[in-house]
Amino acid sequence: MSGLRGILERVPAAYYSEERQAILETAREFAMNEVLPVANELDPVQGEIPMTLRDKMAELGYFGILIPQDYGGLGLGTFEYVLVTEELARAWMSVASIIARGNGLGGGFSEEHRRAMLPQMAKGECLGAFALSEPGAGSDIASIRCRAELVGDQWVINGQKMWCTFADGADFIILVARATPYDPDHRHAGITQFLIPKERGKFPPGIEGTPMRKIGYHGWKTWELSFNDFRIPKANVLIGRDEDDTSAGFKRTASWLSVARIHTAARAVGLARGALEDSVAYAQAREQFGRPIGDFQAIRFKIAWMATEIEAARNLTYAAADNADRGRRNDVEASMAKLFASEMAEKVTSEGIQIHGGAGYTSECAAERYWRDARLTKIFEGTSEIQQRIISDAYLPRPKK
Ligand SMILES: Cc1cc2nc3c(=O)[nH]c(=O)nc-3n(C[C@H](O)[C@H](O)[C@H](O)COP(=O)(O)OP(=O)(O)OC[C@H]3O[C@@H](n4cnc5c(N)ncnc54)[C@H](O)[C@@H]3O)c2cc1C
Repeated sequence: MSGLRGILERVPAAYYSEERQAILETAREFAMNEVLPVANELDPVQGEIPMTLRDKMAELGYFGILIPQDYGGLGLGTFEYVLVTEELARAWMSVASIIARGNGLGGGFSEEHRRAMLPQMAKGECLGAFALSEPGAGSDIASIRCRAELVGDQWVINGQKMWCTFADGADFIILVARATPYDPDHRHAGITQFLIPKERGKFPPGIEGTPMRKIGYHGWKTWELSFNDFRIPKANVLIGRDEDDTSAGFKRTASWLSVARIHTAARAVGLARGALEDSVAYAQAREQFGRPIGDFQAIRFKIAWMATEIEAARNLTYAAADNADRGRRNDVEASMAKLFASEMAEKVTSEGIQIHGGAGYTSECAAERYWRDARLTKIFEGTSEIQQRIISDAYLPRPKK
């Protein structure tokens, strides 16, 4: 990797601190030495992220980067979260994703929940899943139908959820459901988040889970969930029960997605970097026509574009993270970072396969994993088309109906 020194191995001057540089280097060493070999072994056989690896991540504090120190976390910012995420995703996107199950799910907790759960989440001992999407509601969050009805002192839940990643392995699920019946004239009203505690590795009676057959994002399972008269205590309501603002739950759910999108942009950059680094190594090693393929201008120029696009996406991601840490509004910046980084990642990882030739089309080398996982970054946490809607709406407001 000597050719990339100073370009990819340093936090840029505008954001530099010794602490950040140390965080980046620790994460890089961990990802390359501990995560990458596991990914190369387990992704082709759809194995699950081992507990031993999770324990090491917990020791490094990765599940609690954003959790305040008072609650047992590292108390760092979105910027540091992004630094670690890129490094982990460079090795295995699923590992970069599982840290969000500690860092990203406590936003709606009451003080009581925070005291009880955040310290365990920071240690990776209590990780969550997020159940928002439904068979009929993906991009259009406001059209969810899963229903929670208050009966006595319990919420009774009925309905279907789709794509709930890690629902089986999680210690709790954040469920987004309707506390009032669906009203086509007030679609955002009544959307509420609930806390469902559960035993790791099982579904409680009243929840049935069916694993979905994915083409990537291995290392954990993604589930279709069916809720049938499932009951939780009245106190397990998180956000959305604001009598003055019936859309509060929808707004908080949508605003959560902002940090999730920056995290996804960092995941995309990490995947693309994996493709670049592997391609550089392959271009130096593989010979055709009596010389390394890296001597051919066609390959060299691909490398140049890959590196340039990664750097552009990384800088958008850094800027969005920095904005978030300064408490500035950053929904559009987060969408731009997510859109650009994920589109870039699909292109760059595809070029990675091309540089590897036939070898790139086998599961013997990681190039195809980077591409399969990069493909997903254009879909989840809001598709590329939804990001384009958000950005264009900011520049070209829609006429009021
Ligand atoms: C592997 C995987 C893991 C996931 N994990 C989770 C999870 O843990 N929890 C969870 O809640 N969800 C999860 N999701 C769901 C994910 O967030 C949704 O797939 C995503 O939001 C898109 O929804 P959809 O699949 O229903 O597509 P749709 O919304 O049906 O979109 C289909 C197509 O139509 C386009 N489209 C839709 N509306 C518009 C519009 N207004 N303008 C232009 N184009 C539009 C979309 O961009 C897309 O191209 C996961 C998905 C996958 C694939």
